[in-house]
Amino acid sequence: MPFHALGLAPALAQAAAELGFITPTPIQEAAVPAVLSGGDVLATAQTGSGKTAAYVLPLLQRLMVGTGHTPRRVRALVLVPTRELAAQVGEVVRSLSQHLPGKTKTAVVFGGVSINPQMLALRGGADVVVATPGRLLDLVEHNALKLASVELLVLDEADRLLDLGFAEELARVLALLPAVRQNLFFSATFPNAVQELANTLLREPQRIDAPSVDVKEAVVVQQAYLVDTTRRTQLLRQLIKTQGWQRVLVFVATQYLAERVASKLHQGDLYATSFHGGLSQGARKQALDEFKEKRWDVVVTTDLAARGIDISQLPVVVNYDLPRSAVDYVHRIGRTGRAGANGLAVSFVTPATEAHWRLIEKRQGLSLPLAVVPGLEPLEVAPVSEAGGGVKGKRPSKKDKLRAAAQNSNNDSQEP
Ligand code: AMP
Repeated sequence: MPFHALGLAPALAQAAAELGFITPTPIQEAAVPAVLSGGDVLATAQTGSGKTAAYVLPLLQRLMVGTGHTPRRVRALVLVPTRELAAQVGEVVRSLSQHLPGKTKTAVVFGGVSINPQMLALRGGADVVVATPGRLLDLVEHNALKLASVELLVLDEADRLLDLGFAEELARVLALLPAVRQNLFFSATFPNAVQELANTLLREPQRIDAPSVDVKEAVVVQQAYLVDTTRRTQLLRQLIKTQGWQRVLVFVATQYLAERVASKLHQGDLYATSFHGGLSQGARKQALDEFKEKRWDVVVTTDLAARGIDISQLPVVVNYDLPRSAVDYVHRIGRTGRAGANGLAVSFVTPATEAHWRLIEKRQGLSLPLAVVPGLEPLEVAPVSEAGGGVKGKRPSKKDKLRAAAQNSNNDSQEP
């Protein structure tokens, strides 16, 4: 089905085609008509499903009817959890709106950078504002924009907005919006808090569950390796070499580890760099641009920093450190297998994190064999500082069991 068959204006279908979107993804096929009908929408949407265009295209069409921008008035507000995602969504809005009659003014605002250029950019109003909640409120307080004319509200990655502690800011933003508006709610997962937020926000929403899990499982191969904590870098290097992985996104737990793993790989003959929230905005942008240009084989990152990374045809994601929760696991593996391309998601499980892995597997309905690479059979039975916790060995001695019990009361790993 072509884009225009979804009821989109030719100018929008053309812009989509210029981005290489030939046929709509399942979420686009479902969401575009739903949003165009004017009602609220509640969508389960994974990163990589094409969710951004799924709401941006119909949102732009809805804005075509109307009065245009008046000073400091915002017509559509898109709230996102991170600055990277804000920048990306802003780019999608700009690309998709380029052929529309009349200029669609788009402003992207997020924290961590000077507020002044953003205030300037908002002068004269904006049709679409893409924002992280904290900076948006700062701008409202500076009287740089008003939210009383918002016709369309989008919450993108609502679960991450709550995960990252934006609940209070969200409530404050919502209180500034007019009562009559269209709400679009996108989330990869629906734990209770997210569902409650959706219940309070949405009026008789049309529910969209694009076949995310099926699609994801069809295109992302998931694997797990059992390996000692201290030999994960060695395993990573070996897999990259033997499996011929070209471009790899590696998740670690801390900024420190991102630096360390990247520099260790780099000391070998791999082009590896780190990407995390401790880097300046400029350094982050440079690393991303370079990765897109395929100058790096490996980027080692943390959950938060990786949140908005949009790298199409990213073939391999590695959980060097396991994610803290099943929700984070979904987000991480959503980095690969984007737009139908095949992906590989590999998790490194250590003796210390095996129980935690089983929990993630259970929540995901997975049951993966734990592969062991010859020469890298796990030997750990004692705590290892890098893991930040106790290590459960395969056949622990009595002393090991006592030590593990003491350790486990201090860390996340649960005994099975
Ligand atoms: P998203 O889930 O919005 O982050 O999109 C994931 C990736 O899919 C992005 O790189 C988009 O450019 C791409 N994409 C979105 N819609 C389509 C489509 N209909 N056809 C091909 N690629 C798409």
